[in-house]
Amino acid sequence: MNTLDTRLAALEGRLKRFRAEGIQNLIGGESRPARSGATFETVSPVDASPIAQVAKGDSADIDVAAQAARAAFPDWAAMGGVKRKVILQRIADAIEARAEEIALCECWDTGQAWRFMSKAALRGAENFRFFADRAPAARDGQALPSPEHLNITSRFPIGPVGVITPWNTPFMLSTWKIAPALAAGCTVVHKPAEFSPLTARLLAEICHEAGLPPGVLNLVNGFGETAGKALTEHPDIRAIAFVGESRTGSAIMRQGAETLKRVHFELGGKNPVIVFEDADLDRALDAAVFMIYSLNGERCTSSSRLLVQDTIAEDFEARLVERIRRLRVGHPLESETEIGPLIHPTHLDKVTSYFDVARNDGANIAAGGARIEGPGWFVEPTLFTGARRDMRIAREEIFGPVLTSIRFRDESEALEIANDVAYGLAGYVWTNDLTRALRVSDRLEAGMVWVNSENVRHLPTPFGGVKASGIGRDGGDWSFDFYMETKNVALALGAHPVPKLGA
Ligand code: NAD
Repeated sequence: MNTLDTRLAALEGRLKRFRAEGIQNLIGGESRPARSGATFETVSPVDASPIAQVAKGDSADIDVAAQAARAAFPDWAAMGGVKRKVILQRIADAIEARAEEIALCECWDTGQAWRFMSKAALRGAENFRFFADRAPAARDGQALPSPEHLNITSRFPIGPVGVITPWNTPFMLSTWKIAPALAAGCTVVHKPAEFSPLTARLLAEICHEAGLPPGVLNLVNGFGETAGKALTEHPDIRAIAFVGESRTGSAIMRQGAETLKRVHFELGGKNPVIVFEDADLDRALDAAVFMIYSLNGERCTSSSRLLVQDTIAEDFEARLVERIRRLRVGHPLESETEIGPLIHPTHLDKVTSYFDVARNDGANIAAGGARIEGPGWFVEPTLFTGARRDMRIAREEIFGPVLTSIRFRDESEALEIANDVAYGLAGYVWTNDLTRALRVSDRLEAGMVWVNSENVRHLPTPFGGVKASGIGRDGGDWSFDFYMETKNVALALGAHPVPKLGA
């Protein structure tokens, strides 16, 4: 058997149980169908074949899950970070042990290529290990003495939280939110994206098998407008960690207003990769290609706008076209595949609709620009050139393997174009002029900037966006800032005079 056949056979072994049992919710440590009995079908983007029936949770299921999370919260919070660390480390071990199964399911459920998903599964384990190690110190605060008082601050977990995740790299992103919440001492209700339920179920199972007490992590599948909305409105849920589209973030803010929800949003992006004429152009080319065409371009930090200095633009774009033509689109479980199918047909329609938008607005399609026939939802990797910053292809998040190239004259024009969008997640700067690199990084309206590099994550650093790209930061201690409250206790040091009223 070749590698593809071996992987397909292994996948088949894994999918059998989902076909037989369906994908149930997991609430209070128990697998449960939706209370209404309703299900929905999840299908593979590779060939549109059905994978399984999924419990279609709604507000009734969210209510039971929120009650389970509330009931489990006091013991989990009181357990202390050292014991929580042990359990979270066991979860990390179990993820590693089942990384192949997770990656197979993720590829089949989302269309993402094996070469990336096999690493993303291990990143999930790393997320648990990283926050496990920090759990013992999560409550630490400071002593802030004044002449009359000793002020002692400490942190405590905010309570049960809701985690709502999207379909792009769903396993990795779920662990990125759930691991710090659990390490902080919060309990969780997780509502994964309706388009990618497989690995959320695996994660919930792994957590329970590794010894997470019942009710600490609860899984409710379902749609955003019903299950997701109910989670954001539930009075027992203290905070919502959300990853998804900017307009969904706005809806969640409105929905959570009545119960004064704390929110953490990781939203969309239209991230520039700015290439100056003095850059190492070979490495810049590698990074520009990698950051838009990896993960099918369905990546919040994708460099979807190439800003290239006009003196080198023609040559750079020509080299890009050559590279794009060599990108390997195919079955996600083939080792060689670099781009798989897009998540669902509506998303394919959205991405491909920009081909006409580009033509009508006067841009050129220098590479790609068509769907690929097949049972799955494949699209050619595409490059738009001759774009202006006021075009929709230069301003809107397309969220596919589609790059828009815009030329600039000088640094100030590059910055103007880069900042002239609603989003502000990430930026990439390519130059060998150190002062310019620092100046441009400083002036870019973005939460994260990489200089002469593709996106490389270092877990202690803050991750998040500005403007329409998000609110709040993840990573290191920033994650605990969200999942925890800070309390100050002031102790009088002596008999300072207390103001006397009515004396
Ligand atoms: P989406 O906003 O459509 O859905 C995300 C999740 O929100 C899903 O679970 C969905 O069911 C739920 N949801 C939808 N409506 C809801 C509502 N009214 N109330 C509560 N929940 C609701 O996003 P998507 O299409 O699944 O994901 C792609 C988007 O995610 C892109 O915009 C991408 O940039 C963004 N993203 C951002 C980051 C980041 O770190 N900034 C990371 C990954 C993805």
